Amino acid sequence: MMPSSHIVVHYHELWLKGGNRRFFLHKLREALRRALDGIAISRISRPADRLIVEIADATHVEEGLQRLTRVSGISHLAVARVLRRPSLGDDPLHALCDAAWQEICNEQFATFAVRARRSDKGFPLNAMAIEREVGGYLFDKLQAEGRQVRVDLKAPALTCRIEITRGPLLVYARRILGPGGLPPNTAGRLVCLLSGGFDSAVAAYKMMKRGAHLSFVHFWGGGAAPGESSIHVARQLVERLVPWQFTAKLYLVSFEPLQREIAAQTPEAFRTLLYRRLMLRVAERIAQRSGGKGVITGDSLGQVASQTLQNLQAVGSIAKLPLYRPLIGDDKLEIQEIARRIGTHDISEQPFHDCCPVFQSKSPALFATADALDAAEAALDVASLVDRSIRTLSVERYRYTQGKSERVASKHTATA
Ligand code: ATP
Ligand code: MG
Repeated sequence: MMPSSHIVVHYHELWLKGGNRRFFLHKLREALRRALDGIAISRISRPADRLIVEIADATHVEEGLQRLTRVSGISHLAVARVLRRPSLGDDPLHALCDAAWQEICNEQFATFAVRARRSDKGFPLNAMAIEREVGGYLFDKLQAEGRQVRVDLKAPALTCRIEITRGPLLVYARRILGPGGLPPNTAGRLVCLLSGGFDSAVAAYKMMKRGAHLSFVHFWGGGAAPGESSIHVARQLVERLVPWQFTAKLYLVSFEPLQREIAAQTPEAFRTLLYRRLMLRVAERIAQRSGGKGVITGDSLGQVASQTLQNLQAVGSIAKLPLYRPLIGDDKLEIQEIARRIGTHDISEQPFHDCCPVFQSKSPALFATADALDAAEAALDVASLVDRSIRTLSVERYRYTQGKSERVASKHTATA
C-alpha cells in the first residue's frame, strides 16, 4: 500500500439540485485550493458526487485535513487507503478485500455496507460485483471474530467505500465530520456588528457557514484602565474567523464620542438602545458602500435587557436593510458550545471594555417603543454623529494564506 495522499471530500447534495450546481462546485473547489494554500496539490478530481484532493507530498495530509475541516460546504472528509492498480493476471479483489478489512477492523458498528464506484470501465469487475464480493468477505471475517454485525444497505452505521479510478484504487470508511453549510463566498455580502463578546462572533460564523461574506464593524471603548480597550479582542476574533471566508475587513469605530453625546442628551434608561441604533446606522452606511445586503447582530431573545421583543423592535425600527439575528432562538449554552468548537470562546472570555462604566445605564428600559426612542433621539444630531463615525473610522484588512491568518494593512479612511 502506498502512503495515503488522497483526501476525499463529501458535500451535501442539497445544493446540487438546482441550476446552481456548477457555481457551487466551482466555489467549493476554489475554497479547497485557498484553504490548502502552500500545500502542493497534484490534482482535484470529481468522480460523481465527491471531490478527491491529491496532495503531492503525503506528509502534508494531516495538515491539509485540519485546514479542510474549516471549509464550509463539506459534510465530511476521509483519508483513503491507496492501492496501486493490479497488474494483468493479479487478482484485483484480494488487495481490495484486504484494504477494506484494514480500514474497518478497528471500528465499532452494528450495521455496515460496502459501496463501490467504478469510473474506469476497464476494471474487470463492475461496482455491484465489487460490493458483493468485498461485503461478503468483510461479513465472514467479522463473523469469524465473533462480532455481531449485519449488512444494511439503506442506513448503515458504517459505509466502506471503494473508488476504482483511472489512477489508483481508493478504499475508505472512517469519516471526519466537516462543518456542513454552503461553500464560502456564495451568498453575497453582509456587515456584522462584532462586539468582542461570545454571541456576535458565533452569529458571524453561522452566516459565513451559509456562504455569506462578512465585513466586521467594531465600536471600541478606551476601557477603565489603560490597555483594556476592546480593539485587541475584536482583532483576535477576526483573525480566528477569517479562515472561513479567506479575506475580511474590520472597521474600527470610536464609541466614546457617541456615548458621551447620548449620555449627555437622552434619558438614562434608553442609553443602550440608542447606542444600538447608532451602531446599526453606521453599519448600514458601511454596508451600502460595500454592497452589503444586511446587518448581522448577535442578539438572542431575552438574554439581556436590550433583547426583549419590544426592545428589538424599537431599536430595529430605524433599519433600512434587513437585520439578521442568527442566534435569536439559541440558548447561551448552545452558543458557547459553538464558540468553543470554532475557537472564539477563549478570545471572547478575555476582559475588555467597549463601554466605559460611566456611560452604562443602571436601570435600562425593558419595554421601549420605537416612538419613545425617536423622541429621545430628537435631542441628538443623529446624522452628524453617524457622519463623524464614518469619517473617523479606520479599516483593517485580514487574509488567510498559507494556513495562517494575518492582518494585511491598516489605514484611516473617509470613504469606508
Ligand atoms: P455579544 O456576546 O455579541 O456581545 P450580548 O449578548 O453581550 O452580545 P449586547 O452586548 O447587548 O449583547 O449586544 C448585542 C449585539 O449588538 C451584539 O451581539 C453585537 O452584534 C452588537 N454590539 C454590541 N456591542 C457592540 C460593539 N461594541 N461593537 C459592535 N457591535 C456591538
Ligand atoms: Mg456584549
